[in-house]
Amino acid sequence: MAKSTTKAKPQAAPSVAERLLAWYDVHARVLPWRSRPGAFADPYAVWLSEIMLQQTTVAAVGPYFRKFLTRWPNVGALAAAPVDDVMREWAGLGYYSRARNLHACAIAVANDHGGVFPDTEEGLRRLPGIGPYTAAAIAAIAFGRRATVVDGNVERVVSRLFRIETPLPASKPEIRAKANTLTPDLRAGDFAQAMMDLGATICTPKRPSCNRCPVSELCDAHAAGVEETLPRRGAKKERPVRRGACFFLTRADGAVLLRKRPAKGLLGGMMEVPTTEWNGAELDKAALLAQAPAKLSWRRVPGLVEHTFTHFHLQLAVFTAEATAKAAKDVDGIWVGVDELSGEALPSLMRKVVDHAMPDLGPLFGRKA
Ligand code: SF4
Repeated sequence: MAKSTTKAKPQAAPSVAERLLAWYDVHARVLPWRSRPGAFADPYAVWLSEIMLQQTTVAAVGPYFRKFLTRWPNVGALAAAPVDDVMREWAGLGYYSRARNLHACAIAVANDHGGVFPDTEEGLRRLPGIGPYTAAAIAAIAFGRRATVVDGNVERVVSRLFRIETPLPASKPEIRAKANTLTPDLRAGDFAQAMMDLGATICTPKRPSCNRCPVSELCDAHAAGVEETLPRRGAKKERPVRRGACFFLTRADGAVLLRKRPAKGLLGGMMEVPTTEWNGAELDKAALLAQAPAKLSWRRVPGLVEHTFTHFHLQLAVFTAEATAKAAKDVDGIWVGVDELSGEALPSLMRKVVDHAMPDLGPLFGRKA
């Protein structure tokens, strides 16, 4: 009998997705909003965490996420909460329009969708505060949809895997298209989280640990030894500096004057120590005091409060005064006891102002930006 000459078919090398998913099954980061690899996570938890994680680190989000989930364990509970309570719990996390949109989105899900999140990217994108990234993340992670999720970590990994030399942000469409070619039909949510974890723990901005990387054999940048130079970035624009002043006014009983900022605009709906407008002019005492909440004997606290927003850097002078009985009655705002200040919806900037005005009390809120 003639011998068979049929050769065994060569096995295809595992793809990026196969290698990453196998790595994720063992090395997935344990995060409070995550399910175990292979299982879908609670859409409410995924949504809440993804909104909080925009422009914010995992370490900063953890305590806020737990606090929100304890106080409002589901989307219906959050929708029923007064928006001021939501803003108060959000205080210190920054980018406050996220908190307003969070509440508006909870109301939309509760009222228009029977308390159930839509399970497609298109449906999710119709909700307040949910953009393309967040919609893709929720669709993939909570509902197992094949969606391509591209955050900063994924941008870095993909730029390196495909050795994309075009600088960001011009390279974004190419990165997205390449990321899409990697996304598997099954376990797209785990794949998205695996990419994020790889970027956060191994394919780091500086000194990536290519020797521990599950996809190093498939990485073009590593093969060429140029991983640390990618992704390239266009020249950064200098942030302009704006300046202004805050007026830390106390009453005879020690209470402090606060005001609520207008609902729209920067730090909208949050509380503030009364402040001037912020512009590029040099600090001029007379011009600043003309905007004080009352004509009083204001004293300048030495030094400046500095804070960096996305589009500008802010320097604030701080003035203090004790209100006369008449001024205490006439000024606009609310009087808050010093012990209650930490419970108010004061953004990080205003917490710095309070700390600066009351140095003898020690940092009431800490010095976090
Ligand atoms: S081999 Fe290095 S550069 Fe390439 S993806 Fe892995 S960690 Fe990143």
